[in-house]
Amino acid sequence: MIAAEITGKGVVEVVERPVPKASGDLVVVKVLVAPMCTEFKKRQNGIEDRSLGHEAVGVIVDAGESRRFAVGDRVAVMPHHGCGECYLCTSGDYMHCPDQRDVLAETGQEYGTATYSQYLLKPDWLVIRIPDDISLEHGAMACCGFGPTFGALERMGVDALDVLLVSGCGPVGLGAVVQGVTRGARVFAIETHPYRAELARRLGAERVFNPLEEDVPALVRELTGRGADAGIETSGAPNGAKSLALSIRSRGRLSVVAWAGDVTFPPLVPQGLDIFGVWHWNSLTLAEEMWRTVRKAGDLIDLMITHVLPLEQVADAMDIQDRGVCGKILLLPHGAVDQAGLQSD
Ligand SMILES: [Zn+2]
Ligand SMILES: [Zn+2]
Repeated sequence: MIAAEITGKGVVEVVERPVPKASGDLVVVKVLVAPMCTEFKKRQNGIEDRSLGHEAVGVIVDAGESRRFAVGDRVAVMPHHGCGECYLCTSGDYMHCPDQRDVLAETGQEYGTATYSQYLLKPDWLVIRIPDDISLEHGAMACCGFGPTFGALERMGVDALDVLLVSGCGPVGLGAVVQGVTRGARVFAIETHPYRAELARRLGAERVFNPLEEDVPALVRELTGRGADAGIETSGAPNGAKSLALSIRSRGRLSVVAWAGDVTFPPLVPQGLDIFGVWHWNSLTLAEEMWRTVRKAGDLIDLMITHVLPLEQVADAMDIQDRGVCGKILLLPHGAVDQAGLQSD
């Protein structure tokens, strides 16, 4: 099979690797859609990665000894390889499991954990079934397109009465814009890149502020009367969280989704903010809510997905990400997507 790997600064290569084999509860998924996340930053920084990516949807081709899945099931793959037994894993917070499995060492295989590849290996409980009425491309939103910000919106309880402020309109932030709109909230966003600001507006953001030119906290207070009710920080910008906190009303809620090292806030006590650190969403308890969100978002997802390319063109796709002129990009490891999965093979 083919897979993409980052082998040096500015270099992503498509290489040949062995197809992984199912074993015990580890199933093999034929990856039909591999959404791109932040892997391009590793290429920029020359961080080698032979197991690239953490987002995938596809079809089960070998169910091993799984009693949850059968060959042909259409599925979305969740990140990591949680132990499956600790209090975090069993409650659905497996992202935070301190005891991750090494599924390659367990099975004596060299390869099989990358999503930028044609096949991957996954514990069956970290795979969720995509309902028949949802396309694989839309189902892919259960990964990072919607996942982290869905987790944030759930934890903050954002609904139609809220003003939501989204900091950063990269693929994750755009997912927050779409979901805020889908939940009926009034959505504002913060973004400096003109392409992404325009895309956020087309997705339903009422206003997109440029923090280099505008006093965002002052403007948000002016437009809302008191500040946004909830905010999601996805930008990773040095002052992103601070500026967002200053734009949120007293006793409002703020989620940090971006990975940016230490986070700076203004004094928290006067504002009485509820602050959440959110990595992903709880697919054990909230899968049905995720699929309802995906159905309701509908066409907005197609607007958010700006590029679809075969895996072989991964370098071109990362060039596009480097320039920031994209929403979500989907890679297709097997070419055009067959929605029926294996049923038509
Ligand atoms: Zn665990
Ligand atoms: Zn991601």
